[in-house]
Amino acid sequence: MIKKPFFGWGSPRLKYPAIGGGEKEPVTEIPLPQKASILIDYPFEKITEMFLKKGDRVKTGQRIRLSEGGNDYFISTVTGTVEDISIYTGYMGRTYSAIHIEGVTEDQWDPTLSNAGDRLSTEICLKFFRRLPGIIDLERLVDPVVPLDAIVIKGIDEDLLVKTNQLVLLNNPEGLTKGVRYLKELTKAKRMIITVPPGLSSDAGNMDADVIKVKPVYPQALPKMIMKNVFKRTVPAGMTCEDMGVAFINAEAVVALADAIDNGVMPVDKNFTLIDKDGKSMNIRARIGTSFKDVFERLNIKTEHGDSIILGGPMRGRSVYMEDMPVNYNTDAIIIQHKDDITENVDIPCINCGECVRACPAGIQVNMLVRLLENGLYDEAAREYDLMSCIECGLCTYVCTARIPVFHYIMLGKAELAKQKSREVSNG
Ligand code: SF4
Ligand code: SF4
Repeated sequence: MIKKPFFGWGSPRLKYPAIGGGEKEPVTEIPLPQKASILIDYPFEKITEMFLKKGDRVKTGQRIRLSEGGNDYFISTVTGTVEDISIYTGYMGRTYSAIHIEGVTEDQWDPTLSNAGDRLSTEICLKFFRRLPGIIDLERLVDPVVPLDAIVIKGIDEDLLVKTNQLVLLNNPEGLTKGVRYLKELTKAKRMIITVPPGLSSDAGNMDADVIKVKPVYPQALPKMIMKNVFKRTVPAGMTCEDMGVAFINAEAVVALADAIDNGVMPVDKNFTLIDKDGKSMNIRARIGTSFKDVFERLNIKTEHGDSIILGGPMRGRSVYMEDMPVNYNTDAIIIQHKDDITENVDIPCINCGECVRACPAGIQVNMLVRLLENGLYDEAAREYDLMSCIECGLCTYVCTARIPVFHYIMLGKAELAKQKSREVSNG
């Protein structure tokens, strides 16, 4: 029996959270943890002792190479001692390396970035800023495979209840204005666009970017919906927005870039929205690498066996099973769901009510698609029922009368096809 991650918890509203009105919102800062774990998208077996081993001392902001002659590196987000390096298995079986740092003390900042030459150069940008809070691969914007026609800065968050990027726009429009300028210079993109909820359009008014007001109704803020509504282009099955010359980046990452360039200090804190078991929403800032457990303890949030922790928003988030999971560069939201509020899936087959088909913004015959996915027929699902055209909104699960976790079947199907493709590439 699969537990639904969120659905059934009260009645999720399908409108994006409305903030604005000129008043800045408070942010709760989580103090430095005693230990931190930094997740890196790099194979554990390739980490060489030449560059990183247990017992090494690291400083905050220190750039640590991972391979000889390659460009792989990570930035230490704390000052302390490497206690262990392990494999971490994430969503859909994806593996990462986890660097565990103990004895974290007050920050001793590594001076390499502040002593570096022109911080507004491609070389320095790729050398230090590949991962920034809110983005895990800036390289795809600075050195894209397909030249970029436009960069869209997300001043509205993609999922419901999440207001991480709205808050950045509301609380730091000056930083965002600078970041937009720097990003334009670095990427040479022809057009800069910022998407905002209606209540924040005046906060984006002075930026060197076209301001696009997004109707605050889910899923209008998803990139493929923006492609359709703003650029009047449909992203073909299996392609990304970037393949079509349009890249998306969170407002938070743009502000982080401005901070790093102006101050020569690596941004190492992450903003996110936290929703507790009572549905209370909090704006949090924590050091990247802080465990969820430490965050909850500081906020006096107690979890018990059977509660669910959702990483991400209610429509697209996923359950995580360990409170040891650290805050990462892309942690935009954490939702804690009380065990009594979790709706369990029952083994009811699809009753062919058609609700999912009516809800699907990509026009997919979801009722037919789910039959193939439930039986592991992923190739057929892509070929016959357009699996790869799914824009990953989760509306099908939200409306499903039989409570089938359709969205998770879809994500599993896509992950399996991606693995299959990468096996084919490596086998020649
Ligand atoms: S998640 Fe479901 S509703 Fe959304 S695009 Fe994909 S199939 Fe359609
Ligand atoms: S909403 Fe659920 S029960 Fe209804 S057709 Fe779609 S998958 Fe079947």
